[in-house]
Amino acid sequence: MTSDEFRKHGKELIDFIADYLENTENYPVKSDVRPGEIFERIPQSAPIESEDFKDVFNDFKDIILPGLTHWQSPNFYAYFSSNNSYESILGELLSSGIGVNTFSWETSPSATELEEAMMIWLRKLIHLPDTFTGVIQDTASTSTLCSILTAREKKLRDNPELQQKDISRMRVYCSNQAHSSIERAVHISGIGANNLVKIDVDENYSMKADSLEKAIENDIANNLLPLCVVSALGTTGSLAIDPIDKICRTASEYNLWHHIDAAYSGNALILDEYRYLSEMSSRCDTFVFNPHKWLFINFDFSAYFVRDKQALISTFEILPEYLKTLHDSHVNNYRDWGIQLGRRFRALKAWFVLRGFGIRGLQEKLSCHIELAQIIHDRVIESPDFELLAPLSFNLVCFRYKPKGVDNDELLNKINDDIVNQINSSGKIFLTKTKLAGKTTIRMVTGTSRVNEQFVTDAWDIIARTARTYSL
Ligand code: PLP
Repeated sequence: MTSDEFRKHGKELIDFIADYLENTENYPVKSDVRPGEIFERIPQSAPIESEDFKDVFNDFKDIILPGLTHWQSPNFYAYFSSNNSYESILGELLSSGIGVNTFSWETSPSATELEEAMMIWLRKLIHLPDTFTGVIQDTASTSTLCSILTAREKKLRDNPELQQKDISRMRVYCSNQAHSSIERAVHISGIGANNLVKIDVDENYSMKADSLEKAIENDIANNLLPLCVVSALGTTGSLAIDPIDKICRTASEYNLWHHIDAAYSGNALILDEYRYLSEMSSRCDTFVFNPHKWLFINFDFSAYFVRDKQALISTFEILPEYLKTLHDSHVNNYRDWGIQLGRRFRALKAWFVLRGFGIRGLQEKLSCHIELAQIIHDRVIESPDFELLAPLSFNLVCFRYKPKGVDNDELLNKINDDIVNQINSSGKIFLTKTKLAGKTTIRMVTGTSRVNEQFVTDAWDIIARTARTYSL
């Protein structure tokens, strides 16, 4: 492609993206293609000769677009949002255009220093104290893995009598509602998933602090090594918040590493009403939240904060001859702050978003999302044939359809599974479900960039109408 062609097609693409984002609601939010359908339409090998961009782009529209789930659609209420913004897209485009790799300060001083600044901005935004230093990771899963690896290495370093074989005596604690990334991290850190202790939860799906203490005592009595506790500041199922202040106390009493997984709800800490959560979190060792979920910075961008930067670096640092630079002793080389060597210039899109929205703009958007969830919550409460299954938390509503006279959970599960499947296959809105206390739970997250009151009330009408066709 020549630079003239790049200019021409680039403009076309920007126009396409703007039209797409302004009209995402006109696509079936969840694709209804059958497995293999897209693959069959893609040639089995790359072309020998160059093809025109026009043809490639037409194929994108013709073949790929119908197989997309439209995450940016205001009709998307599934999982957690992964919202984006024009500011972020432009930052990403620029990052891609300049194509720098940011693994050490020298590979692009501005990329490293903008990342330092952005992580300070984000830390202040969520009101964590300046005892924390931040680094951008790709995902919360990676951040959590980094945390557990750091806990493991620090334990070994601080206790020279321990040997590698003692890793299999180490114990990690989280609630039985914690995200699967915790289990994966414990598994691949070599500690072993059998050493992950899942603590029971109360009626609000928050970890029971006294059960945590009992589990730790029990492990100590059995010659096991309590290593780390992971608190959820917003579980995936229902955005439940673990009793972080009590867990901090337990962690300090038993000398446990404390990681907070705030992947989704951590974003809400930009709002003054959640200041208490920031204060509660200020004593943990590591904290992760994902601006790529709910802060308009497009995927991927996970903000990972550590209290002991040296413990993180000592876990990952390896300095082969070919990576040494003149400045290693007095700059941040982010290659040693995580798993990967090569790193994208992600700070740029954060800079664009934080400046483009301003703190106030971000706060207004998140408050609006929370108010939209309140609307759905109120509809659930007002409807005698619907039941709330968890307290409203941030912008997630958990509920089920429960027609009068039906109390059998097995039957209700089947009905609610069917309702969600039917709604999703209509392509009108997209919801996901989970199980809370064995009950099929419809989850509705109001966090996409363009969602508004009209969209959520229309969505509620679709849910209620579909559900009521199941009344017995
Ligand atoms: N932790 C929680 C509480 C989550 O809800 C999720 C994903 O939704 C994750 C971790 C994993 O996030 P990521 O996809 O960034 O690894």
